[in-house]
Amino acid sequence: MFFEKFRMDGQVAVITGGGRGIGLSCAEALAEAGARIVIIDRDDAVAESGRQALATKGVQADKYVLDVTDSAAVDKAAADIFARHGRIDVLVANAGIARTGARAEDTPDELWLNVNDVNYNGVFWCNRAFGKYMLKAGRGAIVNIGSMSGYIANRPQFQTYYNASKAAVHHLTASLAAEWADRGVRVNAVAPTYIETEMTRNIVDRSMMDVWIRDTPMGRMGQPHEIASVVHFLSCDASSLLTGATVKADGGFTIW
Ligand code: NDP
Repeated sequence: MFFEKFRMDGQVAVITGGGRGIGLSCAEALAEAGARIVIIDRDDAVAESGRQALATKGVQADKYVLDVTDSAAVDKAAADIFARHGRIDVLVANAGIARTGARAEDTPDELWLNVNDVNYNGVFWCNRAFGKYMLKAGRGAIVNIGSMSGYIANRPQFQTYYNASKAAVHHLTASLAAEWADRGVRVNAVAPTYIETEMTRNIVDRSMMDVWIRDTPMGRMGQPHEIASVVHFLSCDASSLLTGATVKADGGFTIW
């Protein structure tokens, strides 16, 4: 009875930024639970590499190339994917970008707009577009990928634009959850600590990472699969009473 709640057989799960990193790990987790997977990514090569990585594990995923900042294209993607698969049960709004280094007072408009466009606007466009199909079906689960940076100000790097975009994702999650709770659609979020992906590999020098690890009660960074298992829980019936929650998967970082 209890383990059955973790199964997702026959469901269709759409994962933005699913070609690599945390998104790809989420795809693997939901596929293992029985869901049919649609990987969305901005770059066809990244989407295809994710699709092939899943294929080596016996998962036949679909892929769709989309920039989540283009709201009209997001609407079209939802329509196309629904036409192709006949249902949309789960959305993992994971696509996001991190930029660091500009102090708040020196932040160029383009940097602020770009980070918020992907991390915040893109999440809303996807929630709105895919959520409509779930509302029509009277059932669905959305998981938005926020960040512990929505709760804390990171150090030693400066990234006000990123932190603010992720705090906005958490409150967007709660607001949508309140609107859609009595119509069968749950909306939750995950707030990860630093996770070892290309995102963190690209922006760090070793000394920065040392500060992160020192500031983490568990004394380490996380792995993509440790976020994917939380996303799985929030996507399936095991979390049937959760909506509007942001689950911190942060190794204790926000305790200190
Ligand atoms: P990665 O950079 O490894 O993967 C992100 C994926 O999203 C990439 O494939 C990227 O494609 C895609 N993407 C970026 N912008 C868009 C867009 N406009 N439209 C469609 N796809 C896009 O990142 P992670 O796996 O590390 O991060 C995933 C999520 O987790 C992000 O929201 C991030 O903010 C969040 N997070 C990550 C943490 C970490 O430490 N790694 C910590 C806390 C939260 P492309 O290659 O074209 O950029």
